[in-house]
Amino acid sequence: MRILLVEDEPDLGTAIKRTLTQEAYVVDWVQSGDEALAYLEHDCSRYTLGVVDWMLPGRSGIALCEWLRSHHHALPVLMLTAKDQIEDRITGLDAGADDYLVKPFSMAELLARLRALRRRSPDLKSAQIQVGALLLDCDRRIAVLHPRTPAEQRIELTQKEFQLLQYFMAHPNQILTRDQVLDQLWELGAEPNSNVVAAQMRLLRRKLGQYGCDDLIETVYGMGYRLKTA
Ligand code: CA
Repeated sequence: MRILLVEDEPDLGTAIKRTLTQEAYVVDWVQSGDEALAYLEHDCSRYTLGVVDWMLPGRSGIALCEWLRSHHHALPVLMLTAKDQIEDRITGLDAGADDYLVKPFSMAELLARLRALRRRSPDLKSAQIQVGALLLDCDRRIAVLHPRTPAEQRIELTQKEFQLLQYFMAHPNQILTRDQVLDQLWELGAEPNSNVVAAQMRLLRRKLGQYGCDDLIETVYGMGYRLKTA
């Protein structure tokens, strides 16, 4: 899942990005409203959630929300702000923000609010994805083989392995190209080459192989990869 983080305070932005990355989110962090708008105009649909500060250089967080809603984008937005007057909250919610977090806040609360936003949004993937004997719990960030049986076994995954598996499990039986994987799971501007996808896929499949799931994801020659449900 990809988050657009719009926050102009470097220390806070760094801390939020670190926290979200640890939770297996892919984070594009920008520090001005105009830059955020450019990302949204380029491809809003790539984002699962937006975390948007109210007061920004250039376009404000409120203006970003208004832009999203006037263009009929349903992207859930959590607004960050130092403002905590009732009128301010009403202004933010009326502009199209879905929730509100007043600074200073704890990272634990930020994460809880984001989980709640995900649950509330009908468009978003459910918190648990099961394919065959494999269950992915996106809230708890764990993968479990043979869940709720005596053979239940937890698969230890790195953040990137978890992100990859989540992406493939959300698109079972579809061929996903390297470019799609790169586009979904690597930060914009990071400019990794496509070998990094192949390398990460090797690591993921080796990891799955350790748990007897060697055949879960197959290479489709010349096209990409596919997670098989059969
Ligand atoms: Ca600010």
